[in-house]
Amino acid sequence: MAARSKRRIFFLVLSSILFLAPTGLEAGAGKLKVAATIFPVADIVKQVGGAGVQVITVLPRGANPHVFELTPKSVKDLEQAKIVFAIGHRFDDWVKGIGESLPDVRVMMVDQGIPLIKTDTVDPHYWLSISNAKHIAQTVCSLLIELDSQNQEVYQRNLESYLSKLDETDQMFKEMFEGLPTRKLLTYHDGWRYFARDYGFEVIGNIESSEGAEPTPRKLAELSKAVKQFQIKALFSEPEVPKDIARSFAEDLGLNVYELDPLGKTLEGGTYLDLMIKNANVICKAHGKDV
Ligand SMILES: [Zn+2]
Repeated sequence: MAARSKRRIFFLVLSSILFLAPTGLEAGAGKLKVAATIFPVADIVKQVGGAGVQVITVLPRGANPHVFELTPKSVKDLEQAKIVFAIGHRFDDWVKGIGESLPDVRVMMVDQGIPLIKTDTVDPHYWLSISNAKHIAQTVCSLLIELDSQNQEVYQRNLESYLSKLDETDQMFKEMFEGLPTRKLLTYHDGWRYFARDYGFEVIGNIESSEGAEPTPRKLAELSKAVKQFQIKALFSEPEVPKDIARSFAEDLGLNVYELDPLGKTLEGGTYLDLMIKNANVICKAHGKDV
């Protein structure tokens, strides 16, 4: 080979290295960037997406999703994101603002295949069920493959192993709840009907009349009747609700207050499954069973 063409090849190789190097050094470069409105869904996306997917959680830790409003910063963070996974059903309607500001970002609900609980409206808290999480993971997997078909096998493999983890946890919960003296739940926020349905619990009432609303005296009177009738001993509160209302209601009726966490505020670096296990442990403890 002539010296000149050798030099030319060397130059081509060198220039392609130089061309590639800066992009390779950027944080998250080469990763598929996606988002989810809340932590539990974001974690499911991480489990299915694996190391090649960068996942952003839109709702800040500790914020109440029912009353959250998008900030310019939360929108800016989502530039370059291909998709935002959302709950829908009026739960995280603020996600629509992302689609308006960033028309290239797809917004997709993850409720496909889930048997939704309907009263006057659809109960949106469907991620609080391990069997529903399996559907969420499947929906996420199909959409990741649609966006990045080259990694189809990776996503499918991650999905398979995650589904078996979810199955194991579901089985573990069934065993944990075996032999509980009662299966009645009194909750502050009406978010636990899917969980109750999965494991044969009955939600006998909730303090909030509607999302974020303080209870009326009439509502409290009805609840105290139900507490006596069903011999309820525990009230399940949550990190995002006003503590004083829960505490004074519980004191009046001699109830112990326990805290369930639907969104992961109390979790230090754990996963969706860690969160669900934590909640299941709280329910067991409140019913007098230490696990
Ligand atoms: Zn809610």
